[in-house]
Amino acid sequence: MVCDESKALQRKKVCVIGAGMAGLASARELRREGHDVTVLEQNADVGGQWLYDPRGGGADDPLGAAEPVKVHSSLYASLRVISARENMGFTDFHFAPKAGRDGRRFPGHGEVQLYLKDFCDAFGLMEAVRLNTRVLRVAMAVAPTRQWMVRSVHEGTEEEEEEVFDAVVVANGHYSQPRLPSIQGMEAWRGRQIHSHSYRVPEPFRGDVVVVVGCGASGKDIAMEVRGVAKEVHLVAKSMEEVTPGLAKVLAKHSANLHLQLHVERLCEDGRVVFGGGGSGVLADTIIYCTGYNYSFPFLDTAGAVTVEDNRVGPLFEHVFPPSLAPSLSFVGIPIKVFAPWFFEAQAKWVAQVLSGRRTLPPEQEMMRSVEEYYRAREIAGVPKKYIHDVCLSETMPTYMDEFGSKYCDFPRVERWHHELVVSLFANMNDNLETFRDDYHDSDSIRKGVEEWHLSAQQTQAAPAAKKMSLGLSRTSTVVCAHPS
Ligand SMILES: Cc1cc2nc3c(=O)[nH]c(=O)nc-3n(C[C@H](O)[C@H](O)[C@H](O)COP(=O)(O)OP(=O)(O)OC[C@H]3O[C@@H](n4cnc5c(N)ncnc54)[C@H](O)[C@@H]3O)c2cc1C
Repeated sequence: MVCDESKALQRKKVCVIGAGMAGLASARELRREGHDVTVLEQNADVGGQWLYDPRGGGADDPLGAAEPVKVHSSLYASLRVISARENMGFTDFHFAPKAGRDGRRFPGHGEVQLYLKDFCDAFGLMEAVRLNTRVLRVAMAVAPTRQWMVRSVHEGTEEEEEEVFDAVVVANGHYSQPRLPSIQGMEAWRGRQIHSHSYRVPEPFRGDVVVVVGCGASGKDIAMEVRGVAKEVHLVAKSMEEVTPGLAKVLAKHSANLHLQLHVERLCEDGRVVFGGGGSGVLADTIIYCTGYNYSFPFLDTAGAVTVEDNRVGPLFEHVFPPSLAPSLSFVGIPIKVFAPWFFEAQAKWVAQVLSGRRTLPPEQEMMRSVEEYYRAREIAGVPKKYIHDVCLSETMPTYMDEFGSKYCDFPRVERWHHELVVSLFANMNDNLETFRDDYHDSDSIRKGVEEWHLSAQQTQAAPAAKKMSLGLSRTSTVVCAHPS
């Protein structure tokens, strides 16, 4: 990746869609590089997923089958993060505990939202964010300008506005549009069916027989929570491989009303849910599908240049730039199982520097070739299309993020202890599902890393507020600071 420090940098008018972790990371990096940034956010506040919305999916669409969904956040009231706070911050603005707030290593969702608001305050980002503004359409302006028309509506006044931007960064998240399985009898089944996107609290399921489909983090959390009020909960796994020792312990402890089933075979009109393991099934009141989410860009019109095929968004060079529309269109936040927002920050820095001309992209054909090679390699490795953005299949986890950072934007490597912490906490979660968030044991190297992390956070917090906020808005030099000074 070519980096030309001698060039005069170009200032672009850039629209960022979404003020979640990825959009805020983008806004900061774009402003640091000197661009004129507008962040359009449909919600009344920043935070994206972390802005809890008690409404859930609503009675009219509890499955979230309509597109786009009306409620963005998929978080339930009791949700606590599953990644340690030491692994959840921006490189130079740690997610450190604050006095009088939720200081736990795995805090509740509200603490993440407060942290993102702190981040906005610290870097003066709110002046670039337009809240209550939903993007309706993004399409290329008339050729040959390579600019983008962005149509948005103000929630409340319903006033629409059309603006022209030099570039658009799409950061609209991908944990909102429910992915639903296709099960025989689903349409005719007479009970209540919802997706975890719409689940908030257990109370509505009191006394019910509930089937929870899906054994990921949300499925397990929700099954354990609903079990406390439901008559019976049947947690459905795809295979026994999903039954970790931790889950086995939970099933044994709550065997009175929590049962494991292997995949749903069909739903019957009389209310029965028949499972793959045989038998006539159970008469259930409710099914909660914890079956994940789809990428969705209902506002984006690229005339077919970017499509979503079996949950693969593409073609995207390094999951960021569509070769035929680069660099004026980019995506931040597409990869999964990465350190967020750390990795979003690296992606955003790359986008900002390409837009300013500090860095150049390979020619379109070369980017296209790289995407195709990546697809082929994944296919040979037997990775289904829908997991193409999972860049962290365990053995490549440290390398992809580090390689990306050093190749495209001189981004600091993730210190080794962060990776050790992920591995150690996942092992703990696998073994101790109910307690892993509060009962953990750190190795000496992790402890040392955490101590230094706390120290560095304290130094940052102690820095005078006026100095803290250097965004490096100068036209020729970008401040790339490890700590605001
Ligand atoms: C239940 C659950 C638990 C999770 N737990 C963890 C965890 O423990 N650790 C972790 O690292 N990650 C976790 N995640 C993932 C988390 O969502 C991501 O880490 C991160 O918050 C994604 O940030 P984002 O900015 O890409 O997307 P989002 O946070 O979804 O932000 C996207 C923003 O775009 C806005 N937007 C969308 N469409 C439009 C439009 N048309 N116009 C204007 N604005 C729009 C949205 O309103 C939103 O504010 C969890 C996700 C879920 C659903």
